[in-house]
Amino acid sequence: MSPVTNKQMFRLRAPASGREAIAPAAEGVVYRDAETGEAMEPIAQVLPLAPSASRLPRTPVNLRLCRRCEQLTARDLDRCEFCGLPR
Ligand SMILES: [Zn+2]
Repeated sequence: MSPVTNKQMFRLRAPASGREAIAPAAEGVVYRDAETGEAMEPIAQVLPLAPSASRLPRTPVNLRLCRRCEQLTARDLDRCEFCGLPR
């Protein structure tokens, strides 16, 4: 079983350039765009919500289809998160 992470990942955006990044935002921590140096603001939480055993953002490329329950489940988990079937 993968260890559960408690760090919530956020989608961050630099207001002027519109450049975006995904990182674990924390109170009092300012992320800066590596190229422009602009401060980035958290604009959305990224699924899965913490705490979760999966560390991958919920994008199509990070999901697989469970052969038993046919639900989309995270690729980095040993078992389907819905029915528990090992991969
Ligand atoms: Zn399943």
